[in-house]
Amino acid sequence: MNGVIIKAYGGFYFVQIEDRVIKCAIRGKIRRQCGQALVGDRVNVKLLTDAEGVVEEILPRSTRLTRPPVANVNQSVIVFAIKNPEPNPALLDRFLVQSLVAGITPVICFNKKDLAGGMEPEILKQYQKTGHTVLWVSARTGAHMDGLRDILKNRITVFAGPSGVGKSSLLNALQPGLELKTGDISTKLKRGKHTTRHVELIPLHDGGLVADTPGFSSMHLPAMRREDLAGYFNEFAVYEGRCRFTGCLHHREPGCAVKEALEQGKISALRYGHYLEFLAEVMDAERRY
Ligand code: GDP
Ligand code: ZN
Repeated sequence: MNGVIIKAYGGFYFVQIEDRVIKCAIRGKIRRQCGQALVGDRVNVKLLTDAEGVVEEILPRSTRLTRPPVANVNQSVIVFAIKNPEPNPALLDRFLVQSLVAGITPVICFNKKDLAGGMEPEILKQYQKTGHTVLWVSARTGAHMDGLRDILKNRITVFAGPSGVGKSSLLNALQPGLELKTGDISTKLKRGKHTTRHVELIPLHDGGLVADTPGFSSMHLPAMRREDLAGYFNEFAVYEGRCRFTGCLHHREPGCAVKEALEQGKISALRYGHYLEFLAEVMDAERRY
């Protein structure tokens, strides 16, 4: 039977098969052939009893994250609060690029809608223009949580975003009974010190699996070629093909269609600024290799 590994513990793998969780050992032969099984792996299980089985095959992975180590993540929900703490768009764009490079579809989620005083913040409009899905929710009041619930169905999702934006609160609001710890940063740091964390996938009542540990916490951009960076800025794509030079980096080149779009206000100065910042970083990293 086919299932998904949702937890690894004490040398066993816990595999969700339909509505059951089966405790599985793995054949040594499989381990030698496929290497370490990961949480998120789709596996073929031979049932031994109602609750126990053996992993007989690890199916090919579509994606693979290293932090946290999870296979087959196909979606990231990048969470920022509209205030408390203030959103950091440079970090948001960094998470977007990291997600896209890993082959994971990003969804942008602005939380704490209740603190916006009924206004639609400018940053929301900016990111709607990127073409990525943008959610505008409140974990506290439950506003627009259906939108979030819907996109999590039938997918393996990792949440990303800085501390304090409400990632745990969102998951708690979606899944009564989950009771992830929430609170300010200082209490969380204290708590985290002595606990070794294993990543687990939480099966949601409405379907879908969510990693209980946030992803993309690293500040570094993944290694890439400088000419590939613009491809990770969604809304640049329509203009890219129109630049005078192939391999245009949209920086100082004449006849650059991206810069023209910027001057006409079709591309946001904020996003273009981050593009240049990341480009410098990518070129710097290239030089060091
Ligand atoms: P995490 O670090 O991203 O997991 O953030 P938490 O879920 O721990 O939330 C950090 C703080 O923000 C907590 O004090 C929450 O009560 C608060 N919080 C979370 N969601 C909301 C929201 O929608 N509105 C408001 N006003 N506060 C929220
Ligand atoms: Zn160009």
